[in-house]
Order: sequence, then C-alpha cells, then structure tokens
Amino acid sequence: MKTTMDPPITLELPLSEPAPVPGCGVCGALARQRADYTAAGNPSRATDCGVEIRNHPHEGGAR
Ligand SMILES: [Zn+2]
Repeated sequence: MKTTMDPPITLELPLSEPAPVPGCGVCGALARQRADYTAAGNPSRATDCGVEIRNHPHEGGAR
C-alpha cells in the first residue's frame, strides 16, 4: 500500500536573505555581489547569490 503525499513544490523561494557566514571569504564576496546586483536592479541575480550563500558548505559547522 502506498501513501503518496507529495508536498507541493514551491517554485518561488521566500525572499528571506540567507546571512553570510562570518569569516568566510566566499560568503562575504557573494554577499557583496548580491548587494551589487540588488543595487543594479537585477533581483534574480541577487537571489542566485543568496542561494549560493545558503548552499555554501562549511567545515565543522562553523557559524
Ligand atoms: Zn561560506
């Protein structure tokens, strides 16, 4: 017996901006790029940067 309860796929991500990890150069650079794209009126690019920040792996769970 199967119970298929697929959650709805949300195509639109919430506009919450992930915070860059303090001390991480990559996150910091992405955050700066995101600000630049936002200032340049390119929100989709800014969102891409936010996603990269969110997905950036950090060893040892550094916060
Ligand atoms: Zn990072």
